[in-house]
Amino acid sequence: MNKSCEMYQMELMDVHYGESEMTEELRSHLDGCEDCSRYWAGLGELETSMVFPEFEDPFKEIVLDKLMAERENKSGRKRNALDFAAFILLAGLFLGACLALVFSGHAVALSKIYLSIFMVAPLMLPFLIKRQMTKGAHTNGRA
Ligand SMILES: [Zn+2]
Repeated sequence: MNKSCEMYQMELMDVHYGESEMTEELRSHLDGCEDCSRYWAGLGELETSMVFPEFEDPFKEIVLDKLMAERENKSGRKRNALDFAAFILLAGLFLGACLALVFSGHAVALSKIYLSIFMVAPLMLPFLIKRQMTKGAHTNGRA
């Protein structure tokens, strides 16, 4: 490779990256010089092999699985936070209602409400369990 070829290849690099135009002189040198035309073709190959990497399928799957799991975890955490907020709100309302009853002199009515809750709550247990189980199935169903 002589000095002018090196120069031409620098120019080809510039042309390849859009920093200068393909000149008439460069074109005619490419036609006549095997070294430089191979270099020019190599620039194009380098581009395609670097811009479009081909993932192996297992690798792609692992990455996608991790991304999906990450996303599900996030939405699950958000849902738990919402459940917790709703629970706090309801508990606060319930406690407030109880205190209001006690301070307005309805402690007896309150004790009756308590009793009825103790009677009703165990009946609700199967529904709560079922809800918890369907929720779990939704979160883990993809695994
Ligand atoms: Zn050359």
